[in-house]
Amino acid sequence: MEEFKENVAVKSGSNLDEETLFVVSQTFKALGDPTRIRILNLLFQREYSVNDIAETLGIRQSTVSQQLRFLKNLRLVKYRREGTTLYYSHDDDHVMSVLKLTIDHASHN
Ligand SMILES: [Zn+2]
Repeated sequence: MEEFKENVAVKSGSNLDEETLFVVSQTFKALGDPTRIRILNLLFQREYSVNDIAETLGIRQSTVSQQLRFLKNLRLVKYRREGTTLYYSHDDDHVMSVLKLTIDHASHN
């Protein structure tokens, strides 16, 4: 925990290295798409199968799978397998906090 705080202190307010810049911009890219925002917002509450996400949001299953792959590559979601069904949940509290803050921001006057 202390180590984490120190790390943040070092990185914010000083020159960002290439790796950090890349990850930060990829993260905002992940959050920069309405469909991905809707999927992540759904995963706030509980895990969902690909099918459930598609049905709840009224989006084609192939589109949902494609977006989940993108989010999985950035380690923003994870899944567990039960038989032939994959259940997805969110995998990063930082990014979910950013999403929540940004939704709050969009909702205030
Ligand atoms: Zn605001």
